[in-house]
Amino acid sequence: MATAEEVIPPEEPHKKSKAEPPQIRQERKPAAAGHLEHRNLRSDEFWRGIPAFSDVTEEEFLDYKWQMKNSLYGEAKLMKLMEGLAPKEFVEDAKRGFSKAPMSVRITPYLLSLIDWDDPWTDPIRTQFMPIGSRLTMDHPMLTLDSLHEQADAPVEGLTHRYRDKALFLPLDTCPVYCRFCTRSYAIGVDTDTVEKVKLRVDPKRWERAFEYIESRPELEDIVISGGDTYNLAFKHIENIGVRLLEIPHIRRIRFATKGLAVMPMKILTDQRWLDGMTRVVELGRKLHKQAVIHTHFNNPNEITEITRRAMNELFERNIVVRNQSVLQRGVNDDPETMSLLVKRLGEVNVHPYYVYQHDMVQGVEDLRTSVQTNVDIEKSVRGVTAGFHTPTFVVDAPGGGGKRGVHSYEHYDRETGISVYTAPSVKPGEHFLYFDPLHSLSDEVRKAWTDKKAQKEMIQAAERAAGVS
Ligand SMILES: *Cc1c(COP(=O)(O)O)cnc(C)c1O
Ligand code: SF4
Repeated sequence: MATAEEVIPPEEPHKKSKAEPPQIRQERKPAAAGHLEHRNLRSDEFWRGIPAFSDVTEEEFLDYKWQMKNSLYGEAKLMKLMEGLAPKEFVEDAKRGFSKAPMSVRITPYLLSLIDWDDPWTDPIRTQFMPIGSRLTMDHPMLTLDSLHEQADAPVEGLTHRYRDKALFLPLDTCPVYCRFCTRSYAIGVDTDTVEKVKLRVDPKRWERAFEYIESRPELEDIVISGGDTYNLAFKHIENIGVRLLEIPHIRRIRFATKGLAVMPMKILTDQRWLDGMTRVVELGRKLHKQAVIHTHFNNPNEITEITRRAMNELFERNIVVRNQSVLQRGVNDDPETMSLLVKRLGEVNVHPYYVYQHDMVQGVEDLRTSVQTNVDIEKSVRGVTAGFHTPTFVVDAPGGGGKRGVHSYEHYDRETGISVYTAPSVKPGEHFLYFDPLHSLSDEVRKAWTDKKAQKEMIQAAERAAGVS
C-alpha cells in the first residue's frame, strides 16, 4: 500500500538528468496517516473471534447459504450468542431494549462478527441493529409509523407514485437483516409486540397490477425496485421484474435497491445465479439504451471490508453501477470524521455516494435521530473531502410526502424549538412540510413545552409564520 511519502511525482520532460531530484515546492505537508485510513480494509478472519464461529473456514464464511442459515433471527438466538461474548450488563440492557422495539431482530454473521463485543454500547453496527434499554429515549409527539405517507401515495398496493416521472415499487417485505431505523417498519419484518404490519408478499399477480399501472402512465420513466430488499428475490424474479420494466417503452431507468452489499457481500461472490440474473438485466438495459443499476445502503466505514472490495470488483468488472444511500444516525455516522471516512471508503471500493438522509421521523428509534443542524454541519465538513461528483447530497425526505429536499433548503429553521419548514414546489405545490428535531437535542424548557398540546400548536404556528407559509 502506498503512503503519501512514497508517491513519486512525474518527471518533468525537460529535465533528463537522473541524479537531480525533482523540484517540488514543499508547501503541502504529506497526508497524515489517518487521511489514508479509508484504504485499510479488514482482511483478517475476523469472524473467528465469535465463539460460535471460531471453527468456520473462509470458504464457509464466504458461502451466502451459510450466511443465511446462520443469520440470527429473533431475540432468543441473539441472547444465546451474546452469553460469554458480551458484558453481562449489556445482555440485560439488550433484553430491556427488545421488549420495546417496533422491528424484529435479524442480523447476518458477517455483521455480527464486525461488532466490537468488548464495547457493544458504542459500536456503530450494534447501534443500527440491536435496541438497548439504556439508550431508548422518548418519542417526539409528532412522530407517526408511516411518516413518509408511502401508503397514502400508493395507487396500487406496493407502488408509491409521488414524483411525476418516478415511482417506488415494493415487490416484497423481507430483508436479509432488519434495521432498527427502517422507514418502512410499517411493513417490513414480522409483527412485533408493539406493531402489526402491512403485508407485501412475493406475488407476481400483485406485481402485474403495478406493471399495468406503470404502463398506463406515460410520464413514468424511472422505477425504484425496493422492498424489503431485492437480495431476497430469487434470480428469476429479478430477471422477470427487470425485463418486464425495461420493455415498457417509456421506462428509461430502473434501480434495484438492496442493503445486501453492506450486510452480506459474499452473496455476490458465491450466488452465481443471482449475479448472472442481475447481469443479464443490466445488459438488456444497455442494449435498449436504458440504465439498470444497484442502489445500496452502507452507513458506517466498519461495514466495508476486503470481502466488500472483492464483491464490488466483481460488479465493477461486469459494468454494474452501484450507488449508496446512507441514513444519518446518532452514534453511527453523525460526526464529520466518520462520514468523511465512509465517503472515501465507498470511493475506494467503487461505490458512488448518492444520498445521506436525515433520519426519518420513525417511532421507537429516537436515540438514532439527529437535529437538522447536525446534518447541515456534517455536509459542510464533508464537501471538499473528495471529488465533487463523489460527494453525497444531504437530504430530508419531507415528512408527509413532500419528497426529498436538500437539507439546507428549509424556508425556516427554528433551532430552539427544533422545527424546520420545507416546501416542495415540483412535488406538492402549495403545501409545506415540517421536520421536528428529536427531543434529546432540545433544551429542557422546550422539551417540556412539547408535552403540552397548546404549546405545541403555538410553536408550530410560529415556525409557519416565520417561513411565510401559514
Ligand atoms: C426516493 C424515492 C424515489 C426516488 O427518488 P430519487 O431522488 O430519484 O432517488 C421515488 N419515489 C419515492 C416515493 C421515493 O421515496
Ligand atoms: S434493509 Fe432496508 S428495507 Fe430492510 S429493514 Fe433495513 S432499511 Fe428497512
